[in-house]
Amino acid sequence: MEERSLNFIEQIVENDLAEGKNDGRIQTRFPPEPNGYLHIGHVKAVCMDFGIAERYNGVCNLRFDDTNPVKEDAEYVDSIERDIRWLGFKWGHIYYASDYFQQLYDLAIRFIREGKAYVDEQTAEQIAEQKGTPTEAGVASPYRDRPVEENLRLFQAMQNGEIEEGKMVLRAKIDMANPNMHFRDPIMYRIITSHPHHRTGRKWNVYPMYDFAHGQSDYFEGVTHSICTLEFVVHRPLYDYFIDQFSGANFAGLSPYGPDYRPRQFEFNRLNITYTVMSKRKMLQLVKEGLVAGWDDPRMPTVCGLRRRGYTASAIREFIDKIGYTKVEGMIDVGLLEHTIRENLKETAPRVCAIFDPVKLVITNYEKKEGEEIEVQNIDGHEELGTRVMPFARELYIERGDFLEEADNKFFRLSPGGREVRLKGAYIIQATGCEKDAEGNITTVYATYDPESKSGTEGGNRKTKATINWVECRSCIDAEARLYDRLFACENPSAEEADFRELLNPESLVVKQIKVEASLRKEMHNPEVVDGIEQCAHYQFLKQGYFVVDLDTTADKLVFNRTASLKDNWQK
Ligand code: ATP
Ligand code: MG
Repeated sequence: MEERSLNFIEQIVENDLAEGKNDGRIQTRFPPEPNGYLHIGHVKAVCMDFGIAERYNGVCNLRFDDTNPVKEDAEYVDSIERDIRWLGFKWGHIYYASDYFQQLYDLAIRFIREGKAYVDEQTAEQIAEQKGTPTEAGVASPYRDRPVEENLRLFQAMQNGEIEEGKMVLRAKIDMANPNMHFRDPIMYRIITSHPHHRTGRKWNVYPMYDFAHGQSDYFEGVTHSICTLEFVVHRPLYDYFIDQFSGANFAGLSPYGPDYRPRQFEFNRLNITYTVMSKRKMLQLVKEGLVAGWDDPRMPTVCGLRRRGYTASAIREFIDKIGYTKVEGMIDVGLLEHTIRENLKETAPRVCAIFDPVKLVITNYEKKEGEEIEVQNIDGHEELGTRVMPFARELYIERGDFLEEADNKFFRLSPGGREVRLKGAYIIQATGCEKDAEGNITTVYATYDPESKSGTEGGNRKTKATINWVECRSCIDAEARLYDRLFACENPSAEEADFRELLNPESLVVKQIKVEASLRKEMHNPEVVDGIEQCAHYQFLKQGYFVVDLDTTADKLVFNRTASLKDNWQK
């Protein structure tokens, strides 16, 4: 890959290094909430966070932002780790925000003692109503000036499980008139008693909110560059505010990096892709309602879905490299993603014959009873990629559409009347006629071949206007082809009035029974599993597209997923 220019965050990092900030230490983190599977939007953040650490000899840690037990699960933790490894990245440590629950709780107590936080007993609706607007100050809660001792007692009661979920929250006492709405007494803690936490069980009844947990976690760990997406720009002043309260001279001893150390937040544009929804909440709905087969349905923009679809880790990373990082939100054409996987597989995927709508072809002058074996290159013109053997005999299957009983002079494939057509990698044939059933459907096509015209022999250089695909009748294998297309029928499902579930493309999956060449018999087994990931081979089915062996394949059944068609509509 050609060397690209630095993105704006790399430039910031280089400036920081030049200025000797943090003694040249670079530390990032990738902070997923374990409430769903990683999607390709997350990969953009993964590539940034891990990429910066790799490039500048730093470290990137994986931190699970597990502050909401209602939605989180260990299943998600495992899948996130697996997907990051598959993408080819290595973390330094694995941390959990829940590891800091005690420290955060202690900080909150300290905050209350300093008169900087209070327990509010209003409902979420009342609190929202009092927030005001960016140009209009909010209204103070009637509980804002509670005495410190009462706040302490109530917060402890919240944690002790004495207060019902939703009845009280802990709020920072900052400024109800601040033009930045996030400063209008943000909620620091809420009560959750309905669900145990996947790691801490029933130990905690209060859980910190994102704004209170994230910056502090960065600070505890020594993160230097806390990189996230643009929607957090408005949170940044609050991120800095909380850290200033607890770091340096205000809270000496919490960081091994000295009183001047501060993590700093930087933001880039999130990834949005046309014909796609990129939100864990919506994806979970698709999964739960059975609108897709699971998180790894090949139509899903999840890492596991893309992998099952046949996307390689290198293609996904190349795509992220191509789109780059900016400070403006935008929409990326899904065509670019499809283009990237085509370009990627073009170089490596062996070509094979698969017949999607078969009709029998009988070569009437072919006399060799046992047939013969034809050696063909895996990728034409690439000797180094090896060859394979295709059994050839008197009876073959070809595509029904490759034969016309009566054709005009614009049709170059098989038709009676003397036109020569090459069977891919094999002989030149001419159609002589066909047989039909009572309804007039063609059941057999008849042809003669030229024994001197075999590809790779002297006579094999003779040119024909068309080449057609074939498989040999006795040796070919029945297989299932799952033809996947875009999951949504409209370009920006999130911007439509209608519920996104009504915008699904009804043809996003078409299943076909096909016949594939004998060499694919080697794929008939349960795919080998390495690090929890099925290893599935990629192929190009000539004239059809790129396909990957699906993990539903067994010793009795061969299943392929279409990764991408061959036609590329992408234009630079
Ligand atoms: P979603 O909105 O899909 O539920 P999220 O932002 O809630 O995603 P997190 O698990 O909190 O998911 O995200 C982990 C990291 O991935 C965050 O730093 C977040 O900024 C980043 N991220 C999430 N979605 C995208 C995206 N579409 N493009 C780039 N980065 C993203
Ligand atoms: Mg989030």
